Amino acid sequence: VKTSNNDCPTSAVSAEDIAALKREVCEQIDALADVLIDVSQQIHKEPELAFEEYKASNLLSQVATEHGLDVKREAFGLSTAFVADIGVNPGPKIAILSEYDALPNIGHACGHNMIAAMGLGAALALNTQSTKLPGRVRYLGTPAEERGAGKEVMARNGAFENIDAAMMIHPAGVNVKDPRSICVAEVRVTMHGRQAHASAYPEDGINALDALVLAYQGIAALRQHIGSGDRVHGIFTEAGTAPNVVPDKTSALFYVRSTSIEGLAPLKKRVEACLRSGAIAAGCEAGIVWGDADYHNMVTNVPLADAYEQNAKALGLTDFLPGDQFPLAATDMGNVSHRVPCLHPLIAFAPPEVSIHDPDFATWAGSKRGDETVITGAKALAMTAIDFLLNTTLQQQTLTAYKQATSEPVKTDSSETAHAPACPCC
Ligand SMILES: [Zn+2]
Ligand SMILES: [Zn+2]
Repeated sequence: VKTSNNDCPTSAVSAEDIAALKREVCEQIDALADVLIDVSQQIHKEPELAFEEYKASNLLSQVATEHGLDVKREAFGLSTAFVADIGVNPGPKIAILSEYDALPNIGHACGHNMIAAMGLGAALALNTQSTKLPGRVRYLGTPAEERGAGKEVMARNGAFENIDAAMMIHPAGVNVKDPRSICVAEVRVTMHGRQAHASAYPEDGINALDALVLAYQGIAALRQHIGSGDRVHGIFTEAGTAPNVVPDKTSALFYVRSTSIEGLAPLKKRVEACLRSGAIAAGCEAGIVWGDADYHNMVTNVPLADAYEQNAKALGLTDFLPGDQFPLAATDMGNVSHRVPCLHPLIAFAPPEVSIHDPDFATWAGSKRGDETVITGAKALAMTAIDFLLNTTLQQQTLTAYKQATSEPVKTDSSETAHAPACPCC
């Protein structure tokens, strides 16, 4: 790694210092391998849904505490979140994230057990070097990625205040340093009508299923006229109880997606109009409830992604795909990425044809290959954290890229977390 400090006579940090620290954290992660793999396997064996990840949260907190971290539970507004702040030295502060929720019916088909163990490994390894780090690390347990946008809730409660960069790694079938993700909003609609015998007294009925079907058809027609990156898709969750009874109550759940926050807002309005028009046509009342927290699109910080790629390649990872070749999905890390510079690469461990959210992906997430990737991923994460904390040039590039990629103001205060320029001659 070429750092600005190489050219700076007053700096104590050199490329050799960075390389030595990277070797140290990798050795620490190798020494912790059994512990990290056991954590990944235990979480994999007992998948827990969003907001209910008590066992995973307890396990991670317990192991982190046993290894010297000061863990605070029930952090930032979520009972299954936790935080541990590492280090005392002034300088930049990074966040390392562990996700650990699973999916209904298909368990860890998103491999969050591996994300949990990778984040834990990086945090524990960095903790052993905390006195040597010119800055600090916040290790965060972040629940509810699959539903509910847990990181948005945590962010609103201060989890990312005074954080200069946030990092995590997601397992996949391919290596991608900068995957895209799109915005998602969730809407639940309940149609209220009036029950009647469908054959004897049809004129007395107000059909809540008709309302839902008409709303669905309205959305189907809308789909022809939305942006190419926009998506609307949904299911009926309640559609009546008997054919000879006019349904008086039905409900459905839709996801509305767009590539940007600016695109999502008008699309939500149009979907809501379809829902209301179905209700009006059938003479029903519509109860429409949007989720508290939309998922935002991912703004990958390119300098951080480049640093990750270099470290990952040094660890033997190959065949990196461009971010735009990966299918569009969503992550609440996108919400974080509009607040602080973010790194959210994909690390290959399963065959490319096994896709995320496929039951086979869950099998792979519990495999030996998954275990090996936990160790490699933890190292790549810890190495990239070291690059950021020690390399003032990377810090500057990260901040500049963040400013360019977002319109949001960047903090420029001179508190102890302010880090640029750290070198007085640059
Ligand atoms: Zn997922
Ligand atoms: Zn996931």
